[in-house]
Amino acid sequence: MRPAEVLACHDCDLLQLGPAVSPGSTLRCRRCHAELRRGRSNGPEYALAFTLAAVVLLIISNVSPIVGLSVNGHVVRTTLAGSVRVLYIDGMWPLALLVGITTIVMPALQTLSMCWLLVPLRFGRVPAYAVEAFRLFRLARPWGMTEVLILGLLVALVKLAHIAKVVPETALWSFVVLMLLLAAASASFDPHELWARIARARHAERPLKLRPSTPGSATLTAAGCGLVLCHECGLLVPARHEKGHVRDCPRCGSPLHSRKPLSLSRTWAYLLAATVLYVPANVLPVMDTSSLFGAQKDTIMSGVVYLWISGSWPLAALVFIASIVVPMLKIIGLGYLTISTQLGSRWLPEQRTRIYRVVELVGRWSMLDIYVITMLVALVQFQALATIKAGPAAIAFGAVVVLTLFAALSFDPRLMWDAAETDHVRARRS
Ligand SMILES: [Zn+2]
Ligand SMILES: [Zn+2]
Repeated sequence: MRPAEVLACHDCDLLQLGPAVSPGSTLRCRRCHAELRRGRSNGPEYALAFTLAAVVLLIISNVSPIVGLSVNGHVVRTTLAGSVRVLYIDGMWPLALLVGITTIVMPALQTLSMCWLLVPLRFGRVPAYAVEAFRLFRLARPWGMTEVLILGLLVALVKLAHIAKVVPETALWSFVVLMLLLAAASASFDPHELWARIARARHAERPLKLRPSTPGSATLTAAGCGLVLCHECGLLVPARHEKGHVRDCPRCGSPLHSRKPLSLSRTWAYLLAATVLYVPANVLPVMDTSSLFGAQKDTIMSGVVYLWISGSWPLAALVFIASIVVPMLKIIGLGYLTISTQLGSRWLPEQRTRIYRVVELVGRWSMLDIYVITMLVALVQFQALATIKAGPAAIAFGAVVVLTLFAALSFDPRLMWDAAETDHVRARRS
């Protein structure tokens, strides 16, 4: 059995002694209840098996057609790359770029970097360029959105079924399996365990000595002890500054920050830009349909109304929540967290940390409508009968989703706990 180790919480920075976790159990922070460690038996081995299977499915999903649409014996089929190409040809290159990156490039980078790290480790060797591969994995992880794509495909199929006969093809099923494999792989892949194994292979870890450096501090935080937590591999490192910046993590190479730099100003910048673009995203047409019966321009809301009227009310509710409610709640929620942190509020930091976690978790689902539009644009290309093109609001909406994701990534929840902490120190000094 492994001895207890000193852990710092990634959400509130509290230092605590963590006992070794048994498989299936979870160790949570005793102040903010964030998950610190989860016991996984044979985690890296399972992760490798799921990832290798995901690579195969990724290839099948990208080379075979997803769905076919048949009108009067004329069938239009599309692959994922094909639908990205149609967007590009229609002049919607920012949208094509966004869809291509989130559904093709990032899932591929994520699985390949995981393979690169896990295969050598399986044979007891330290992977070459582990730092670079891990950096790639870290970059790709929040931006691969296969599960949102599946939901988008489902909504698109229901919409298309009203127009013509829909023929599900190979990639539709392989994408569903791929989604499950990616979820299983990331559930069993624990970066902390990965780096602990690499470190064991290198025999390179020294125990930490704790010396509180903030006088009068009531609770022991990593920053208070002159330590920095690496968010990626969980290593606690003494904060040594080089030219005003804390150096990179010596174990995994990720940039180290005691607190994310310029966290609040960056969050504000992204939030304000997202708020401005939220207006055209909802007012301008998101889709232009031209058919024998004339031209029609749809906004996000009129798309929801159409689904509701045609009887698909669960999907109407889904699109309404993902496209209208989630972005709005994200902007309001993050705005509230940023203002309260800036004002040094000590009010319910635990609940505010929980709000942050929810915002971070649900943000990606707003991409749903972008994927629905992509599929409709790619498939409804019957020159004489009907064509669908993406409208300007689609680009504004894509930008809102990306900006709110960046805003959530820039916000540092530990700042909320710092306010409570500083107040406590002040009270004790006076
Ligand atoms: Zn915590
Ligand atoms: Zn690290």
